[in-house]
Amino acid sequence: TNKAHINYQLILEQVFDKMTGLENSGQVATYIPQLAKVDANKLGIHLIDSEQSHYSVGDACEKFSIQSIAKVLSLTLALKARGDSLWQRVGVEPSGSAFNSLVQLEYEKGRPRNPFINAGAIVVCDVLISEYRQPKSELLKFIRALSGNAKLSFDPAVAESEKRTSYRNNALAHLMKDFGNIDNDIETVLDLYCYLCSIEMTCQEMAQTFMYLADNGVNPLTGEVVVSSIEAKRINAIMQLCGFYDEAGEFSFTVGLPGKSGVGGGIIAIHPKHYSVAVWSPKLNSKGNSFIGMKVLEAITTISQSSIF
Ligand code: GLN
Repeated sequence: TNKAHINYQLILEQVFDKMTGLENSGQVATYIPQLAKVDANKLGIHLIDSEQSHYSVGDACEKFSIQSIAKVLSLTLALKARGDSLWQRVGVEPSGSAFNSLVQLEYEKGRPRNPFINAGAIVVCDVLISEYRQPKSELLKFIRALSGNAKLSFDPAVAESEKRTSYRNNALAHLMKDFGNIDNDIETVLDLYCYLCSIEMTCQEMAQTFMYLADNGVNPLTGEVVVSSIEAKRINAIMQLCGFYDEAGEFSFTVGLPGKSGVGGGIIAIHPKHYSVAVWSPKLNSKGNSFIGMKVLEAITTISQSSIF
């Protein structure tokens, strides 16, 4: 097929300008004390298309805490190790509730609804600990290869800050342990979970890291098969249905792409076979998703008239 080459740079500049006036909407996450220290008015956008052309505006080269966006990467690594048997431990249904909610776990006997709510990501961390002798370095190795940046790392200040205040995640882990869905020591599991969430990236690195989901599971930097095209399809599908917690419907409705948010204010969105786009703006709406980030992505798919629908 002949894909018309779109100059996304003009679109990104237009979208960036459209966001003036929204600076006061939303609130920076403060429940992880270290995250409250961020400059709330940052805005960066970076898009990479299927020809590996890069388009960028604003603070796209500044590092931020990717938080729950990392759950897509831990899921990918766990899937590589476990394959389909992973789904015995965690489901693929949208939760319709908050990212840190406890209620469904009790009804569903400790099997989280999906790998992107906290409970599901904690189970995935438990699996990584069972599979790898050094899960933290395994994760970093994996993510560095995708990003093309061999220095990418955790922010220990953010990880330790979250560990000290992780009462809810502790509750989730204990409940699941009681149901027999956590194999390893709870402290070890939550340590990995908090380090996973503390990974730092720029928008540029994030867009690059997730290109495998726009490219049928292949890392376009190396040509390496990260996951099969079936698994890439499935990961995109879970992002579409579960990437924004109880706002997944709204994101699908307004943006029309699979995506994943984090409480650091980042969002990654994928247009399979077309592009990957990362946006960062730290102020969150009431559902814990970047207020301006959602608006940016809505404007990009609207102006470029391209979404998966
Ligand atoms: N580390 C955060 C937490 O567990 C991740 C939440 C998020 O980004 N939505 O609360």
